[in-house]
Amino acid sequence: MIAFICQTCGVQHAPVPDHPDTPPQHCPICEDERQYVGHDGQRWTTTEELLAGGRHNEVTEVETGLTTINTVPSFAIGQQAHLVRTPVGNLLWESISLCDPATIDRIRERGGIDAIAISHPHFYSAMVEWSHAFGGVPIWLHAADREWVMRPDPAIRYWEGETADPLPGSGLLLIRVGGHFLGSTALYWPDGANGRGVLFSGDMPQVAQDRRWVSFLYSYPNMIPLSAAEVRRIADTLAAYRFDRIYGSWTGRIVSSDGSAVVARSADRYVEHVNRET
Ligand SMILES: [Zn+2]
Ligand SMILES: [Zn+2]
Repeated sequence: MIAFICQTCGVQHAPVPDHPDTPPQHCPICEDERQYVGHDGQRWTTTEELLAGGRHNEVTEVETGLTTINTVPSFAIGQQAHLVRTPVGNLLWESISLCDPATIDRIRERGGIDAIAISHPHFYSAMVEWSHAFGGVPIWLHAADREWVMRPDPAIRYWEGETADPLPGSGLLLIRVGGHFLGSTALYWPDGANGRGVLFSGDMPQVAQDRRWVSFLYSYPNMIPLSAAEVRRIADTLAAYRFDRIYGSWTGRIVSSDGSAVVARSADRYVEHVNRET
């Protein structure tokens, strides 16, 4: 039974019971208006093919207690994962499609994974493989996005409401921000950036190319905006937390300081633009 991986969004799908060696027909995540089917049509791959093609993961320390995991050469939409290490355990924030023994060893050297949390379906990737590699640790997903889970598994823990505590005693907090997906989630790490606070924003908000700013879109690849009211709501939700640094979804998308103020002034700029009459 092969769990195929969509080449465009990187999400792994459950094997098809009657056709264990045949990929699915469709990827609903890519067919959704927030994503896109690859320009050459729907294509699939496997973990074995990714490795045979020369892909591997780079594991890099970025600040005290924080490691990034990136696939090289980049795969799908270039997802990266962060391993946040705390005195009470380690959380894998986001997931990537390539889960291989070499990377599992590198993570074990850093204390392993006690829980996984993911911002939204564009980062579900091979989350079930990562959980199984570390004994079936829980995967925290917001229940509002349940329909987008392509590979169901008993390890998935659907949470509801506005916040959740995936690793009690760690200080880490999952915050539902919505906007991009109903259940879009950010991770707050108050001890990060030497105690000045870190927000892992997922895609909501997304760190802009000018890293003094963030933005708020319903779809990034298809450039579909959110309403002013929705952006205001998201900024108000995040205003309850103090953070200096923001790590966005993709490599290098980092707001290095003054993160809380960056979100506030970016929301003001966005609202001012979409409310212009000419
Ligand atoms: Zn896909
Ligand atoms: Zn996304």
